[in-house]
Amino acid sequence: MPPSGTLGGGSRQLLKRLRDVMAGEAAGQERLDRIVRVIAQGLVAEVCSCYLLKGGMLELFATEGLKPEAVHKTRLAIGEGLVGDIAAHARPLALADAQSHPNFAYRPETGEETFHSLMGAPILRGGRVLGVVVVQNRTKRHYAEDEVETLETVAMVVAELVSAGLVTEEEAIAAEQGEPLPARLEGLHVHYGVAVGTAVLHRPHIEVRRVVAEDPAAELVRLEAAVGGLQRQLDELFAASELARGGEHEGVLEAYRMFAEDRGWNAKLKEAIRSGLTAEAAVQKVQNDTRARLAQVVDPYLRERLMDLDDLHHRLLQHLIGDIGKRELPDDAILIARTMGPAELLDYDRAKLKALVLEEGSATAHVAIIARALDLPAVARVPEIRDQVSAGDRLIVDGGHGVVYVRPGDDVIDSISTMVAATRAAEIRHAGLREMPAISLDGIRVSLNLNAGLLVDLAQLEKTGADGVGLYRTEIGFMVRPRYPSVAEQTLMYSQVLSIAGDRPVVFRTLDAGGDKRLPYLPYEEDENPAMGWRAIRMTLDRPSLLRQQLRALLTASAGRSLSVMFPMVAEVAELVEARQVLELELERLWRIGTPAPEKLRVGAMIEVPALLHQLPALLPRVDFLSVGSNDLLQFLFAADRGSPRLAGRYDPLSPPVLSVMSRLIDDATTGGVPVTVCGEMAGRPLEAMTLIGLGFSSLSMSPGALPPVKAMIRSLDVGALSSYLGRLITAPDRSVREKLRAFAADHKIAI
Ligand code: PEP
Ligand code: MG
Repeated sequence: MPPSGTLGGGSRQLLKRLRDVMAGEAAGQERLDRIVRVIAQGLVAEVCSCYLLKGGMLELFATEGLKPEAVHKTRLAIGEGLVGDIAAHARPLALADAQSHPNFAYRPETGEETFHSLMGAPILRGGRVLGVVVVQNRTKRHYAEDEVETLETVAMVVAELVSAGLVTEEEAIAAEQGEPLPARLEGLHVHYGVAVGTAVLHRPHIEVRRVVAEDPAAELVRLEAAVGGLQRQLDELFAASELARGGEHEGVLEAYRMFAEDRGWNAKLKEAIRSGLTAEAAVQKVQNDTRARLAQVVDPYLRERLMDLDDLHHRLLQHLIGDIGKRELPDDAILIARTMGPAELLDYDRAKLKALVLEEGSATAHVAIIARALDLPAVARVPEIRDQVSAGDRLIVDGGHGVVYVRPGDDVIDSISTMVAATRAAEIRHAGLREMPAISLDGIRVSLNLNAGLLVDLAQLEKTGADGVGLYRTEIGFMVRPRYPSVAEQTLMYSQVLSIAGDRPVVFRTLDAGGDKRLPYLPYEEDENPAMGWRAIRMTLDRPSLLRQQLRALLTASAGRSLSVMFPMVAEVAELVEARQVLELELERLWRIGTPAPEKLRVGAMIEVPALLHQLPALLPRVDFLSVGSNDLLQFLFAADRGSPRLAGRYDPLSPPVLSVMSRLIDDATTGGVPVTVCGEMAGRPLEAMTLIGLGFSSLSMSPGALPPVKAMIRSLDVGALSSYLGRLITAPDRSVREKLRAFAADHKIAI
């Protein structure tokens, strides 16, 4: 049985004694020596040791019970032994028989062979491991859950001593980091562009100076006031955000509000205060627990929710320390974050943001989608960024190559400045193109449209002078919400899109979920090949209520206006016919209940599955337009996974089979009187776009950043000359005709 006085929230006594040590005269090593003694006594353990991270190794800094000679000698790597294991996973461990654990690493200099049970907790600060505190007993003692909690709390006290420089911070931290030097860090490309600016930490670490509560009752009152303030702040945010209504903020903010009112969460915070912590330390403890859980979770939805909770803890800490005002941003802010929600990024002043760097995340994370929509150079998965960068550091972000230069030297600044100047010059040239028509030298007019998926993307219509939205990926709006949007929510979402687009036409693609675009709240059975699995129209035809709801929302939102709706991943004409029947049912329903219908309705299919290309005679009379999703079409044409890094670049879109397929499609569709757009990535690359236009396509849809260079290319192109040249390339035996086309462009002074 564990001793009385340490249980049932009874860590209070131990914390009081620790506070006395902290308030005492002793400093540095002596203070830490006393602390381990107090912990050993308080937890009735024969051993208490404190390991701190130094030079990347966990060094024994103080011990009560192990051989004193081992202090500053015993060193373990992260992941080595049980202490290393606790540090590696940032979570506590309690074992009645530690020596039989496979990770046990015996260190003879410590004399620990006589101790059987072990309980350890990570010393954490701002989610980062600073060290480990461990207790050991001779007997095979089963540590109770609340003893583990007590040790975690004690570890927080040690963390504050270390971070406040009261122990050996100079040695433990400065020795590890040394003088800040320039660094080049690599990550994952999220969005193009080069930016030079000043580092701003998204959530600067909040130093919790007081850990042990003088008066728990007063701390509970402070906590309640702060939670109240947080709830009010969230309500205000919710009410103030215009985009929130029906926009992508809504789901995120709603999830926050749900958490802030969650009884379990509030109860945990109060319990931590009752165990003897100040309100700030209680928040930090619950936050540490969340982060430890986060590290174990692989489910993307749960991870995101836990990240939301992490943000909430940070906001609550801000309320407790009275730091809730908006932070002033420098004019050239480069935002550094572990990760962040889409709404959080939108909270920043876009005019001052120059780039975004994330420690975690991926190119498909919601925040990455927003960064692209905002045209913000961005890099993700830069593992050490928050360790290497301090607020105010000079940074260069090269989004295209996924590289971040930290405190760059003059040579790097010089070479990057040349690159930035070239990019700026191109931007200025491109801005001048905004009002110019996309007409070739021989008078062919090409319709240039945007691919979009969020309301924020639509601001780019005006900025780029695009003709309309050629592909509105409706699933993105579904992906950023915490639950399936109702018909009313969808209606609002689509009518906002139409209102912002104004006179410019918008092509709505129905839900293309499944594959790599999973909706977190819909149950899926894992397909072996998700890209070829139950996704897009297959899913919505099998669950017609989803399709009916979406079509109802689209029809209602377009009342009195034009609606263009397009179905994704159609493999056979019969699927299109079935989808059209669902649309008819919804139209009839509208007439029946007297709801106004769209003035004009156009129905299209995406060409993404090669089988559909072999049914054009049956397909063409049944559609008003077609759109080539070249990303999927090419992956199925070559049987090459579009997401596989090993296959990336293996098959060239500028190759005879692709030119042949595209050429036949545009010829047949033109003969059948059906307009065709290309909306895959191919359409946004100048050389590929040039080729498509040469083959006869006169409508393209692409991401906003791609539009100006494509327009510049068109305005320098003689389509007639290119068309006759392309005829010869289609039958060539080459793997790729890219170089030939590049040479043609160079010879004919086409702006590629
Ligand atoms: C495509 O496949 O080319 C396309 C535009 O659809 P998505 O990239 O959304 O799959
Ligand atoms: Mg597709």
